[in-house]
Amino acid sequence: MAEWICGISECENRFETIEEILRHQIKDHPHNSCRVCGEKIPDGIFAIWHVIGKHGRKEYVLAYGATSSDVRYREYVKKLVESEIDIDSTYELLMSERDGEIEESLQDS
Ligand SMILES: [Zn+2]
Ligand SMILES: [Zn+2]
Repeated sequence: MAEWICGISECENRFETIEEILRHQIKDHPHNSCRVCGEKIPDGIFAIWHVIGKHGRKEYVLAYGATSSDVRYREYVKKLVESEIDIDSTYELLMSERDGEIEESLQDS
């Protein structure tokens, strides 16, 4: 089975499934503002999916100063992830999981 390596900073944590790496990226890394629309988005695969998927390659190149090989790599990652899971619903699920955990930790203190 394919192995997923977190590419954020120098994290390099390894995961066996897409769900695991996405859960890690949503919960263990800070979320950044999208440079195109300003929305807070999780870093890593979701950021790729958001910028390429919602805004398109031209916006991505303009906002991020991306090269054509950046674009090709991100489109490849996006396609790979989409071939295995439904990103929209996984995103919703993981974000609500994360929000639930934040609520819980607030109630504990
Ligand atoms: Zn990581
Ligand atoms: Zn955006």
